[in-house]
Amino acid sequence: MIQDINAIFDNSFKIKQPKPTDPVLCYRSGGACAAQLSPLTFPTAADFDMSQLTYLFQIGGEDYYLADSAPADRWETADRRCLRVAEPKTRAFAAITGMHLNYWYARNRFCGRCGTQMIRSETERALICPDCRNTVYPTIAPAVIIGVVRQGRILVSHYANRPYGGLALLAGFCEIGETPEDTVRREVMEEVGLRVTRVRYAGSQPWGFDHDLLLGFYCEIEDGEIKVDHSELRDAYWLRRDEIGELADSASLTFDLIRRFRDGFEPFPQNETLTIRHTRRDELPEIMKIYAHARDFMAAHGNPRQWGQTHWPPEELIARDIERGKSYVCVSGNVLQGVFYYDFCADAEPGYRNIEDGEWASDQPYGVVHRAASAGLMPGIGSFILRWALAQAGYLRIDTHPDNKVMQGLLRKLGFRQRGIIHVTEDNDPRYAFDLTKGQEK
Ligand SMILES: [Zn+2]
Repeated sequence: MIQDINAIFDNSFKIKQPKPTDPVLCYRSGGACAAQLSPLTFPTAADFDMSQLTYLFQIGGEDYYLADSAPADRWETADRRCLRVAEPKTRAFAAITGMHLNYWYARNRFCGRCGTQMIRSETERALICPDCRNTVYPTIAPAVIIGVVRQGRILVSHYANRPYGGLALLAGFCEIGETPEDTVRREVMEEVGLRVTRVRYAGSQPWGFDHDLLLGFYCEIEDGEIKVDHSELRDAYWLRRDEIGELADSASLTFDLIRRFRDGFEPFPQNETLTIRHTRRDELPEIMKIYAHARDFMAAHGNPRQWGQTHWPPEELIARDIERGKSYVCVSGNVLQGVFYYDFCADAEPGYRNIEDGEWASDQPYGVVHRAASAGLMPGIGSFILRWALAQAGYLRIDTHPDNKVMQGLLRKLGFRQRGIIHVTEDNDPRYAFDLTKGQEK
C-alpha cells in the first residue's frame, strides 16, 4: 500500500530553513508538480523563493518542503494514477501526504470564526487567528472501506459519477456520533440494502489524496437480495475468489482487502469455536459495553423497558456476580462474544417461588440464566449460552419481558415452554416464565 515504504517517516513539527537541493512539493489541479515522472523527482528549493517554503516532514532522511503555489507550466503533473504506482515509493508517499497538508493549509487561510487572516504557529502544526486566537489543527476525515463477504464471495462494486471506474468496495465517511463499526452497518444498508451480522477490523491506511484516514473492515451479512443505491453505485455484485483475477496495483487498502480475500483469507471462519468460562474482574469495563450494546439492541427491537428504563444491570451487580463466581462469558479466541449470569441449586432464583397463571414443570433443583447479552459480533450467542446452561443443569428456568420478542422467539425455538408469570424486584412489569428439561430441547 502507499504507506508501506521502506524508510522512516518523521512527521514531527519543526521549523527549518531549506537547502537549495531539498525537494519541494507543490500542487496544481490534477496532481503534484514533478521535475520528472520516472523516477519521480520533485523541483528543489533553489527553484523557489526559499523564504516562502514551509517544512513538512522528513522521509528516508530527505527534508520535504511545501510551496503554496506552483510556477506556471514549468513542471510535469504527477496525477493520482501516476502516484499510485510511481517509484521510488518514498517519494510517491511524500507527494500524497503533502497533498493532504497542502489541502489543509490552502483551505484555512482565514479564520472561520472572525475572518481574519490566519498565521502559522511556531510551536506546533496549527494555524492561529491573531485576532480571536482560534486555533485550527490539520483535519483528517475517517472513512471505512468494507469487504462484505458471504459464503466464499466478496461484494464488489463500481462507483456511479466518479472519475475512478475500476473495481471498488463499499465505502463511506464516518458520521459524527458513529463508531466505524456503526458506519459499516449503515453504509452496507444504504448502498446495497443488506443487514450486517458480524464486523471485523482489517487494517488502515492514510489516504492523503482525499484527506482521509481509511479504516478497513470485513463484514458478514444475513441472507438478502442486493438493492443497489444507483445514486452512489453503478453496480454491485458477488465474486468468488477464483473470479477476482489480477488487481491493477497494490496501492490501496481496497485492493489489499480484495487481494487478501482472493488469496484465501477467511475473515469469519465457520469452525470458530465458542467456549464458556468464568468472567474475570478486569473484564468488567468490556462487559458493561456489551450490556450497553444489548440495551440499544433491545430498544431498537421494540423492547425499550426491560433494561433501558433502569440502565439495568448496574455495574455493582455485575461486579458482585463476578466475585461470587456466577458471571460467565462466551468467548471466541480472545474476543468476548457474550455475558450471562448462571446459578444452579434448589432455590436458584427466589423470585421464582411464586408463579402465577401456571406452574413450573418440575420442583427439582434447577439452573437459572439471567442478564444474558450478546456483544452483537456474531450470530447464535444466545442459543449457545442457553444450550450450555441446559447441559450443566439438566433443568433450566428463565424469565423474560413481554416486550422481548427476540428472546421469546429464541426460547420457543430451543424448545422452552412458557409456564406462567413471575415478578421481579426491579420494576412492576410482569415477566414471562419459561422452563426446559434436558432431552426435550430442539
Ligand atoms: Zn479569528
